[in-house]
Amino acid sequence: EGIWRLSKLSVSVHKDPGKDFLGVSDALLQEIAKVLEFPVASMLPQEAFKVVRKSFDARKLQKEQKFVYTVDVDVHKLLNLEPRTWEFISELEPKVGLIEHLPQDRTSGDIMSIVHACIKSGQDATTSEHGDRNLCNGSHTNASHRKPKVAVVGSGPAGLFASLVLAEFGADVTLMERGEAVEKRGRDIGALVVRRILQEESNFCFGEGGAGTWSDGKLVTRIGRNSGSVLAVLETLVHFGAPQKILVDGKPHLGTDKLVPLLQNFRRYLEKLGVTIMFGTRVDDLLVKDKHVVGVKVSDARDNSSHSMNQQLGYDAVVLAVGHSARDTYQMLLSHGVSLVEKDFAVGLRVEHPQELINSIQYSGLANEVQSGRGKVPVADYKVVEYVNTNDIALPSNSAPRNRSCYSFCMCPGGQVVLTSTNPSELCINGMSFSRRSSKWANAALVVTVSSKDFAALDLHGPLAGVEFQRMFERRAAAMGGGNFVVPVQTVTDFLDNKLSGTSVPSSSYRLGVKATNLHELFPSHITSSLQQSLLKFDKELPGFISSSALLHGVETRTSSPVQISRSADTYECTSLRGLYPIGEGAGYAGGIVSAAVDGMYSGFALAKSLGLFHGSI
Ligand code: FAD
Repeated sequence: EGIWRLSKLSVSVHKDPGKDFLGVSDALLQEIAKVLEFPVASMLPQEAFKVVRKSFDARKLQKEQKFVYTVDVDVHKLLNLEPRTWEFISELEPKVGLIEHLPQDRTSGDIMSIVHACIKSGQDATTSEHGDRNLCNGSHTNASHRKPKVAVVGSGPAGLFASLVLAEFGADVTLMERGEAVEKRGRDIGALVVRRILQEESNFCFGEGGAGTWSDGKLVTRIGRNSGSVLAVLETLVHFGAPQKILVDGKPHLGTDKLVPLLQNFRRYLEKLGVTIMFGTRVDDLLVKDKHVVGVKVSDARDNSSHSMNQQLGYDAVVLAVGHSARDTYQMLLSHGVSLVEKDFAVGLRVEHPQELINSIQYSGLANEVQSGRGKVPVADYKVVEYVNTNDIALPSNSAPRNRSCYSFCMCPGGQVVLTSTNPSELCINGMSFSRRSSKWANAALVVTVSSKDFAALDLHGPLAGVEFQRMFERRAAAMGGGNFVVPVQTVTDFLDNKLSGTSVPSSSYRLGVKATNLHELFPSHITSSLQQSLLKFDKELPGFISSSALLHGVETRTSSPVQISRSADTYECTSLRGLYPIGEGAGYAGGIVSAAVDGMYSGFALAKSLGLFHGSI
């Protein structure tokens, strides 16, 4: 009884209707029939099957490229079959390793059902299928008591999901964001790309939706695709307008054009729940009494004159979801004695190839099926990881590590390279795309791990040494580009040969201009050497990756947070300052849109519990 899960069902790309079809095609039905050893595929009731995952497997070692499916089978719907066949299938079950039994209700009692009970029931719900847990809309708050007041600082995925959960439980939430709402932020980003005007508080990193809004919107995560919390995040995104496809796609992504309207819906929903949202509001300081945070000091981020007024606002708890570009906030935390711990991260360059080249490396004969994102197969991507050592290089200090991981990161097929600086004297980049991934370029960060030993080798010490390390190379990149956000570049082949690229470098998707330089002048030689070695190794895995049409762009520094803010594993409360809840990527507990959202969601539950709004467990 219940649901069976069939995995690793493969359908040849030639027989499959293509990447955008998520139903049960005749070819898939044939494959299901084969696994079930059912003689006539067309007699199987289509409604008994649901595609829960569809991935494109482009590995060249196999004879034929194919789509790989995971399908859930509703066993009750199969019962319409002739009884003898049914018995046959039951006997088959223990023999076929591909079939996995799932309990019929896969969601009850987990985080997903709780979040959904809230979201689906909206403002009116006070009870749910979870019986004694009254989940939503402040049902726990006694009319005679005031609602607990919570400030959530930062409207990235972490801050948004924390606000959502807290507001659903009835907290009086104020969401503060130094940047602008997506409508105005879009205009500010337009002015940056077209007129080189960088608004320091409203840009690719700061503003509604956080750093991931003008991004590729990849929704992949290392947490585990089928975990309840990841499903809860993805389903919440669907609720706010993301296409259903993200629930099934093996490598889901949204693209900026889908993220912007989704965030508008998210905002409207929070406002309906009573969340006060303050854009253009920067938290400059914490109000601390008896080693306990009692509020925040904010200023108008739109007014950078010296007359800008500070305002002090009192709260019962402050959730800090500021992302890893809020360097001023790290400094402010240090002034309160908050424990910040240095953390390893990675730095490097962003490599850009013609997308057609990546399609042909990955798909060979199938490359023409891509058709700028409109075709049968997805626009090709890649992911490479290698270990390298620098035994042949004289290191700046004996302590600098010789072995490092090198990997591609945040690969954007059919995307463009964008400026993620928050300060005009620093230059750093990342990648974004639109949902169709139709640009003619493919970019990805190519990075190597760095640790406190690398910072110390450059005489950088203390909890913010990693931040200073990032800043050092961002400033150097800005100088090498010659200012005005022009990015220093070098072809991959010239980088390997350590020679300056000629002035006619390949075209770049980066809109603010590139300048041919020798990128060996950017990093210490051991980091450069690691990047060179990794390129040689990547080319073995992806022959053709080393190409004179591939352009390296400097510099990629903000891959993950350079610090971690210590907090309790159960309550999410900061260990060195009560009443403060550091969450998301900036606090060092997430890396990417989905993991930041998951951290936001769990912190919301933990804080709701501390405030007496929620008595269950997750
Ligand atoms: P953030 O998203 O950084 O949000 C923090 C928010 O806090 C910001 O909006 C900021 O303005 C605000 N803030 C900061 N300081 C203050 C203050 N003092 N007062 C008030 N507000 C403040 N990840 C993926 O998973 N997939 C991708 O495809 C992807 N592409 C990316 C592309 C780009 C160009 C960039 C920059 C990042 C990309 N990322 C991607 C990374 C992803 O965006 C982050 O991991 C994620 O957004 C982190 O979420 P967060 O909520 O922790 O912080």
